Amino acid sequence: MTLDYISSWSEKMNGSHKSMSENEFSVTELLRDATAIVLKRRHSNEIQRDIQAFADINAGTAVHESLEESARECGWETEKELSVGIKPDNGPRFSLYGKLDLYRDGILADIKNTKEASVNKAISGQDDEWKKQLTAYAVMLETIKPDWYNGIKDMQIHARITDLSVVGNAKTGKSTDKWRVLHYGLPTQTDTDRLIDEYIDKVRQVRKLAKVKDNKLPICSDKYRFAETKYKIYGKTKSGEWKKTAEVGHANYATAYDAKVGFEKAGFTDKDHKILEVGGESLRCKYFCEVREFCPHYKKMMETENGKEQ
Ligand code: SF4
Repeated sequence: MTLDYISSWSEKMNGSHKSMSENEFSVTELLRDATAIVLKRRHSNEIQRDIQAFADINAGTAVHESLEESARECGWETEKELSVGIKPDNGPRFSLYGKLDLYRDGILADIKNTKEASVNKAISGQDDEWKKQLTAYAVMLETIKPDWYNGIKDMQIHARITDLSVVGNAKTGKSTDKWRVLHYGLPTQTDTDRLIDEYIDKVRQVRKLAKVKDNKLPICSDKYRFAETKYKIYGKTKSGEWKKTAEVGHANYATAYDAKVGFEKAGFTDKDHKILEVGGESLRCKYFCEVREFCPHYKKMMETENGKEQ
């Protein structure tokens, strides 16, 4: 892979909500799946946000601003905007843009207002988006080498958990600390090469899908939709149909092995029960995707669900 970086950086290029031009992509935008990126670019002026979403955004911004003000007093560089040009071997150049929350003495850090489940997923490695985001900043800093930069010793996420119940956790003896700091150390060459390859591929997909109408866009990946494969046990009804069994409480099993254990524990036989691999529920589509109202797959999913309920 040959990359041709054209680099630049500035104190403040465009404020906190920079809008991207056609050949410019942000570090976090490229972590989405291509369909979600295309829909967001196409419909950004039509997205409706309810009052709770605005309140969450405002609360997050307030936490960022007050922390960054304190950090600046302690000598941290804050809110540095970075832009790097990438020229893939095959394909036109594009710019990668990112805004780094904090940097000092070799530590680069990003602040998150987030849910406990997201922190747990990041710690377990099930979700690697935060690591990728920090790795992208590391690549950009190494490429640009601004005058305040002196290398990287550690990459960190400073996560403020917003759904943690202080009272509930105190009762169960768990920590009531609302902050977690996740350390990722130094990115390896493999991490950075893989990420740049992934970004180049994502930009190629977005450019291709930019010519496709909304109703023909492909569905996002299972991983992006939070729809990992699940295994369920089905039982045969008197009429010969297969239905999820009430006996095991409609349990989901993460692996075929777990399902087999559940199957045997319930005393089922192959004659009247079987294990089926099913797609998990697309939680992001249903609850979190900000472009779902423009997405044909969300529409189909809701039509199917509503049809089932009737
Ligand atoms: S609704 Fe689901 S499939 Fe559609 S863009 Fe969002 S995540 Fe992707």
